[in-house]
Order: sequence, then C-alpha cells, then structure tokens
Amino acid sequence: MPYGPLDERMGTSSKKAECATCGERVDLCPGHFGWIQLQLPVFHVGYIKHIYHILKMICKNCGRVLTKDEEQRQQFFKLVRNRRLDSNKMRDTLKAIMKQCAMISECRFCHEINGDVKKVGPLKFVHRKYIRKQVSAARAEFEAQFETSIAHNPELKPYISKVQFHLFQFPNSTFNNGILHKLGRR
Ligand SMILES: [Zn+2]
Ligand SMILES: [Zn+2]
Repeated sequence: MPYGPLDERMGTSSKKAECATCGERVDLCPGHFGWIQLQLPVFHVGYIKHIYHILKMICKNCGRVLTKDEEQRQQFFKLVRNRRLDSNKMRDTLKAIMKQCAMISECRFCHEINGDVKKVGPLKFVHRKYIRKQVSAARAEFEAQFETSIAHNPELKPYISKVQFHLFQFPNSTFNNGILHKLGRR
C-alpha cells in the first residue's frame, strides 16, 4: 500500500513483485529507507520509561530541572558527574535525584505549579498539577474558572476535581513549545 509501512518503494517482501525504487526482485533489492510523517507528536515506545522519569523531574511549563535552589542543583551536578560510580550506584543516585525533583511543587524559574506525572494507558501521560496540599489555593483559583460552566451545567461539578492535563496531547501547548524550543526546533 503506498505511503504505508509496506510501501513498495522501500522494497518488497513478495517473490513476485518488483521494488518500486530500483526495480529489482526481493533477492537483489537491498531495501530502501522511508519515513512516515505523523500528524501529532507521539512518544517513542522504546523510550517511554525514560520519558516518564524525565517528565517527573522537569517543570511542565518551561522544561527546566526542578530543584529547590542553586545549591541543590550544583549538588545534583556533582553527583551525576562522579565517574567512580558503577552503573548500579549511578542508577540509585539518579533515582534519589528524581525523588527529590518530583517533590518540588513550584518551579523556581517560571513559578509554575508542578504536580505529579502519571502514565495512563500504554502511551499517554497526565500531569496531575493540583494534586498536592501545598497548592490548594491555586487549585481553588483554577476551579473557580469553571463556576459559570457549572452554573449552566450542574452535572459537570463532580468532574471538576478530576480535571487533568494531558502531556503532549496538543501539539501547540505551551509545554510542547517550551520543550521544542529547548531542542532548538522552534
Ligand atoms: Zn529496491
Ligand atoms: Zn518552570
């Protein structure tokens, strides 16, 4: 099928067909590279665990690593640069750093509130931004935005407390722009 993963321009696996690029049969065609341009950003399934860990450690607005202060940031730097650690010890160190980053509920750079990140389903993450007690005032402020909607649709009320933020669900969200900017893409 053209433009699909079995596009014959990448070669063929059938004994009868010919490759649409070089015209050779399966035994002589070396195969050719192709790619599919996806309409939305998609997580690479092989990196999903790493992405999850990184999302826990960074600000969901500006993409910086969540740290308490500059001193802690320098301390983390020192730890990850220690070349004497073997891979097991390094893994434990990273785990400890992740735990500390994940506890921070306000980014010290952009002051955005950060909650925890949860994996829902095989390839989706949600940011439970207002999950922590420390941010209950911000949560109330956020929920107040829905007052008019609730006045018109009272059945919405029980769902407001369950509102979550999808990560990478919308290609133009601030978060994605922030991340892509960091990668030098925008
Ligand atoms: Zn070919
Ligand atoms: Zn931030």
